[in-house]
Amino acid sequence: MTIENAAPGKDITAEDMRSKFPLAAAKHPGHRSIVEVGGVAFGAETLPVMAGPNTVESRALILDIARTAKAHGASLLRGGAFKPLTFPYRSASYFEPGAEALGWLAEARAETGLLVVTEVMSEAQLPGVCAVADMVQIGARNMQNYPLLTAAARTGKPILLKRHFGASLRDWLGAAEYIMVEGNHNVVLCERGISAPHTHRATSRFLLDLQVVPAAREVTHLPVITDPSHATFWREWVAPLALASVAAGADGVMLEVHPEPARAAVDPLQAIDYAAFSRLMRDLDRIAHALGRQVRPDLREAA
Ligand code: PEP
Ligand code: MN
Repeated sequence: MTIENAAPGKDITAEDMRSKFPLAAAKHPGHRSIVEVGGVAFGAETLPVMAGPNTVESRALILDIARTAKAHGASLLRGGAFKPLTFPYRSASYFEPGAEALGWLAEARAETGLLVVTEVMSEAQLPGVCAVADMVQIGARNMQNYPLLTAAARTGKPILLKRHFGASLRDWLGAAEYIMVEGNHNVVLCERGISAPHTHRATSRFLLDLQVVPAAREVTHLPVITDPSHATFWREWVAPLALASVAAGADGVMLEVHPEPARAAVDPLQAIDYAAFSRLMRDLDRIAHALGRQVRPDLREAA
């Protein structure tokens, strides 16, 4: 099967690349774009790492994690103020902080110099999020919320477009095109796990679609990163899948990091602790370096 004889409407065809997503489509084999976010380049030799808690639980927590993320070589601080939580009920241990957390993210950014990537779930949240965020995250569940994509694109902010867990690569690139058609070409794609029958452990909600990384490179010039935390839902598997992502050609990774993972307000099974994060940053650099890229060259220079 090649792009030339692919099934129309299911597989990605040459005609799709000409007329359905001409802006997102690669124009020639090997066509790659670099997306710049506040001086950090996605799609280049150095792979940016986004790290942080699932949820910006408190000012003290985000400042502590930001300092750690910075010290270990991350470029962006992640963390949700607004969260697409699966269930509507909230408690002291399961909550989203809301707008107040945007101020805490701004403080963490100012102190550490890390860039901020945070999720927006509705158009109404855009002004507040854009006042703080260097990059606006569209979550998996909103990948096909087209009015939100259009509104987010029009802010001019770089967009992190997460793949819906049931979306094909074709659908995902259609969503990217909705952003690009507004004149905003700063789109980074993020694979975060798909729904499929998988593995022996029910706690693993999704399956990291690693093969979408090279597959995407055949048809789009946009950078692709992965989020092994959401994909595996299981902290012991985050490092191996992060390393495999870089081996597969990912342009960066997003990692959930928490000082006391088991006590994280949201998704406590998937965050890694500081020690695991530190080891992973070193190992990511080793894999990247073997492939002509890098994550933390300072560690090698110091050795
Ligand atoms: C997140 O990154 O916090 C998140 C909710 O991810 P996803 O949209 O991939 O589930
Ligand atoms: Mn989550």
